[in-house]
This record gives sequence, C-alpha cells and structure tokens, in this order.
Amino acid sequence: MAIATKPEGLNFELPEDLKLLRRSIREFVEKELWPVGQQVEDTDQIPQATLDKMKEVGLFGLPFPEEYGGADVGELGYCVALEELGRANAAFSNVIGAHCSIGAMALHLDGSKELKDKYMPRLCTGELIACFALSEPNAGSDAANIQTSAVRQGDAYVVNGVKHFITNGDFADFATVFTVTDRNLGARGGITALWVDLNQPGVKRGPNDKKMGLYGSHTCELIFNDAKVPADHVIGQVGLGFITAMRTLDMGRLSLGAGCVGASQFGLEKAIAHAKERIQFGKPIAKQQAVQFMLADIATEIYAARNMVYNGAWKADRGERFSMEAAMVKRYCSDMAIHVVDRVLQIFGGSGFMKETGIERGYRDARILAIYEGTNEIQRMIIAEELIK
Ligand SMILES: Cc1cc2nc3c(=O)[nH]c(=O)nc-3n(C[C@H](O)[C@H](O)[C@H](O)COP(=O)(O)OP(=O)(O)OC[C@H]3O[C@@H](n4cnc5c(N)ncnc54)[C@H](O)[C@@H]3O)c2cc1C
Repeated sequence: MAIATKPEGLNFELPEDLKLLRRSIREFVEKELWPVGQQVEDTDQIPQATLDKMKEVGLFGLPFPEEYGGADVGELGYCVALEELGRANAAFSNVIGAHCSIGAMALHLDGSKELKDKYMPRLCTGELIACFALSEPNAGSDAANIQTSAVRQGDAYVVNGVKHFITNGDFADFATVFTVTDRNLGARGGITALWVDLNQPGVKRGPNDKKMGLYGSHTCELIFNDAKVPADHVIGQVGLGFITAMRTLDMGRLSLGAGCVGASQFGLEKAIAHAKERIQFGKPIAKQQAVQFMLADIATEIYAARNMVYNGAWKADRGERFSMEAAMVKRYCSDMAIHVVDRVLQIFGGSGFMKETGIERGYRDARILAIYEGTNEIQRMIIAEELIK
C-alpha cells in the first residue's frame, strides 16, 4: 500500500500559554518559596505571608474553571504547574495538592451546580481551604472498608467516625468526607461523599501527626461526633461516593507524578552542579564513569516519567479514560523519585547526609510518594485489573 502523504507527526510541544505558566510558576518558586524552604523545615510551618502570596498568584485555583475564578489550566497545565512546584520544599505542593488535586477536586468533578456556585469561588482564591478525608485507622488500602457513618435525619446527615492522616486537616475549612450510608451495599452503592464544614460543633481535629518528613504540611485525625451535614451537601449521588473517590484519585495521581518529575529534575540539576565542582583524585567526580552513569540513568528516567505524566494529563483533558495510565504514572514516577533522590544523595557523598545541603530532606520527603494516594502495590493491582478484565 502506498502512503500518499507524509503522516502528520505527533506534537510534543507544550502550547505557548503553558510555557508561560511554567515560567511564571518557576519564577514564583525561586523568588518566594526557595527563600523560606529552610524556615518551613525548621519550624514545620509555612509562613502565613507565603501562604497569602500563594493565594494571590492563584495557586489554590489552578485546575478549576474560570467562571469560579480558577486559572482553568486543564490537567496538563496543572501538571506543568505541579512539576514546577516540585522544585520547592515538598510542603508547598502537598498543601496545594490536598486542596486542589483531591479536596476541592471531588466537588469540582461531581458536586451539584448549587454547591459549586456556593463554594468554588472561595476555594479558588484560597479563602476556603479543602482536604480529602477517605482513610481511616482500619481502612487504608482497603478504602471500601470505611466505617464512618452518615445517617439521614430530616434534611441532614448525621456523621460519626474517625478519619486519619488527613493532609491539611489542621487548617482546612471543608473536607470531602467519604461515609457509609448503606452497610449492606459497601463500595457498590453504600458509600456517599459529603462536603463537610469542619468548623462546626461535632467536628474535632486531632493533634498534628509526627512524621518522618514533609515538615510544613500537616496531617491529623478528623473526628466526627454527631456532626450535622445538610442533605444538599452530598457530592454526586447518594451511594456513589466510592466512584467519586476513585475519579478524584485518578486526577490526583497524575499531578502527584508531575511533582515527582519536578523534584527529580531539581535533584538532577543539583547533582550535576555538585559533580562538576567536587574534585577527587585530581578531577571533578563528573569525569568518573560511575557518576556519569548515575546521571545518565536519572535523566533517562525523568524523560520517561515526564512523558507519561503529560500523556496521562492529555488523555484526561480529552475526556478519555485514563485510570490505568494514572496508576502507571503514580507507580512509576513515585518509585523513580525515591530512587533518584537516593542516587543524588550518593553523588553528594557525606555532604548529602548533612542537613545543610537539603538533599537529606528531599530523601525523607520522597518516601511518602510510594504510599499515599494509594500505595504502589495498590497501583499495580489497578493496572493488572485493567489488563486482564
Ligand atoms: C503523610 C500522609 C498524608 C496522607 N494524606 C491523606 C489524605 O489527605 N487523605 C486521606 O484520605 N488519606 C491520606 N493518607 C493516607 C494514605 O492514603 C494511606 O496511608 C495509604 O492509602 C495506605 O494505607 P495504610 O497506611 O492504611 O496502609 P495499609 O493499607 O495498612 O498497607 C500496608 C502495606 O500493605 C500493603 N497492602 C495492603 N493491601 C494489599 C493488597 N491487597 N495487596 C498487596 N499489598 C497490600 C500496602 O501496599 C502497604 O505496603 C495520608 C498518609 C500519609 C502518611
């Protein structure tokens, strides 16, 4: 068969507006976030003034529609932004991720027009902060086994139970809370997502968890004791909350992957600079093949990871199914980031182990990536299920 015309090539070029977005987020990261990175680590707190600046530049509304005051950059644009945020202390992308990628995303994806009209504008400015409350002490990977109950009484649901490890739980105003409304049906019709005001009687926040890393981004328990939630605060349909949870996590996994790419790219740049500067045996260690091979492998893995993220985001923006790709992105990019930061530390030698280089912080912060938003074992299960179904 003769091919009449040269096939049109795939276009891997980011559109101009996303290149501009990348530049402006990078500038913001370098000007506003880098200078306070160590302070965030030392105090376990993002300064209020920095949070205010993050709100001013629109980071809390990045993926949401313009009609609500969001930047409407699409999933691809959001991933580009999260990639750049990944170059800063992980606390920043974690706070934004818990709010945008999952907390408010559930409302954006499945909330009613009335709920969105009422809350999205203030979520986009960061006046209201959101979080995503699925995990419980006895339901982590087995998320369908949640016990937090919501019982309809008149025009409200009465919520009882405990959510744990909730990012932004300490200061969020609202949470997307996954509850059991019909124990007999479980994940297939018995779980309901509720949009819950956390500043009301019946809701308590536990103390912040003491963590291995991610200082400046807090997790805690949310304890519901007869908390009343208006019946019109159901996100999506009663009983279909598990679908909302999974749809939301699909989105979250893409942007989580983007953060991994940004953090890895930043680590690579630091490793290259160090390897060119550090002299041993009379020459820069960058001239040693063992070090070169580590740099080459890291760069290759980042190249693969970035393309996976962009491809997954592109599918999401086209309205195609992307659950399997999201699981692949999350699994690959997080394992990559953990392995990258390990090798970057190796290239730094003893100084990488010292606090002042910031490499050990990246090493600790990366470890969670293979655990939250579904462990990497769970991602493999999702991928395998898609493959054999
Ligand atoms: C810092 C941090 C922030 C978090 N933020 C949030 C948040 O904002 N909102 C939220 O809802 N949750 C949050 N989580 C919870 C997180 O999503 C869970 O920790 C995660 O899903 C794993 O659940 P688990 O900790 O109960 O581990 P478990 O489910 O107990 O898993 C333990 C181990 O067993 C493995 N395992 C379990 N089941 C299987 C299986 N069937 N096959 C193979 N292996 C299996 C797991 O992969 C893992 O290695 C956060 C957690 C942390 C640490």
